[in-house]
Amino acid sequence: MTRFRQSGYELFLVGGAVRNLVLGGEPVDFDFATNATPDQVALAFRRVIPTGAKHGTVTIVHDSTHYEVTTYRAEGPYTDSRRPDRVEFISDIFADLARRDFTMNSMALDPLADRFLDPHNGEADIHNRLIRAIGDPHERFSEDALRMLRAIRFATQLEFVIDAPTFAAIGALSARLASVSLERIRDELTRILASRTPSQGFRMMAETGLLATFLPELVAAIGVEQRGRHHFDVFEHSIIAADAARRDNPDVRLAALLHDIGKPPTLEIRDGERTFHGHDGESARMTDAILRRLKYPNAVASRVAHLVRHHMFHYTDEWTDAAVRRFIARVGKESIADLIELRRADTYAVAAARGHEQSLAALLQRVADQLSSDHAVSLKDLAVNGRTLIEAGIPKGPLLGVVLEHLLETVIDDPSLNTPDTLVGIARRFYESRLATTPARIPTE
Ligand code: ATP
Ligand code: MG
Repeated sequence: MTRFRQSGYELFLVGGAVRNLVLGGEPVDFDFATNATPDQVALAFRRVIPTGAKHGTVTIVHDSTHYEVTTYRAEGPYTDSRRPDRVEFISDIFADLARRDFTMNSMALDPLADRFLDPHNGEADIHNRLIRAIGDPHERFSEDALRMLRAIRFATQLEFVIDAPTFAAIGALSARLASVSLERIRDELTRILASRTPSQGFRMMAETGLLATFLPELVAAIGVEQRGRHHFDVFEHSIIAADAARRDNPDVRLAALLHDIGKPPTLEIRDGERTFHGHDGESARMTDAILRRLKYPNAVASRVAHLVRHHMFHYTDEWTDAAVRRFIARVGKESIADLIELRRADTYAVAAARGHEQSLAALLQRVADQLSSDHAVSLKDLAVNGRTLIEAGIPKGPLLGVVLEHLLETVIDDPSLNTPDTLVGIARRFYESRLATTPARIPTE
């Protein structure tokens, strides 16, 4: 800030950092506003990244911390409820603050000059825990439809209330969110899911109509009642499961939100009973498609869909050690902890009460015991591999994989059989018996 002053420029701390200071917390990241142009900023500092120089933003790197500096600007015409077509650099900080989204985001602080600017009374709104659009909310949301979702994200994250006229405007204009890029929507969704109580945000998104524009599958779960011990419809069950899942595990939160997304399309009434046969597979398929559509990385989509696919297990202390190993083999050891956490959240959300915590903790312990005992739970743990079997006379081909799977099942049941000689013997006998029943596969040699 001193460097800017010495060069004759203004520099204010703006955005979330000032908001957090007023809230009594620590700034997490630092956004600055200045009357210097991006070129002028670049001349004054050694390390400057032209983050969005066209829109007036550059990043200054200082002591390996990144600071975003944006030139005061007015936004050009908005044609389609998205970002402005062009921006215009201006010299007046007040005009810059007026183009921002909410009163709590339109304060500016220059600690060196001891200047605190709050032209839209953001400080008072923060003390009343209120989110309020600057000026006419209809105009602000028509300019940039993402602001509607930001309002709900901030309300969820900060546990604030959205002012009534602002909330009503979101309800009236929610359909316009469809014109916003899915990447920007995903970023807000991710932050809602990382909040203490994401369900608050999902209820607001459903009520205003925003949710229907990018996640209609979840809207379809509203009012879908369940049987048995379930206290909630599928929508409430899903969002309460997301609340219950660990906040620091984004994959499990997504899995909790989507684990029953296949229930509405699989609902059938049989003999007067409501059933959801095959909903786990359908939920997994839909989860994968939804997360790809929302531009999550493919690896995230696959991991979360995998958890959803396997969420329907019912552990009891009657499971044998072999059953525990079969469970590990089916799910994969890298997913077990997340899957158990998903199951815990799912069980909690049946009646918003603790259920199987102890038995799931016991299962986690038994999984750890099996893993530390070095018993085989995957093909690479076998005492033989494909090459050993080929050397022992079993030909290359599709049957080789089937033989290996059979060996894994065998040693999962009885770990003492996991030695090269024993497995080669079992493999030969199994191969010959399979040859007898699949004549088409007999090799010609
Ligand atoms: P956080 O960083 O915690 O998300 P923030 O308020 O700093 O909160 P940013 O997205 O970093 O949010 O944006 C910085 C500031 O830029 C905001 O406080 C707001 O003043 C302004 N701003 C950001 N996005 C918009 C938008 N879509 N419309 C209007 N102003 C915006
Ligand atoms: Mg910020």
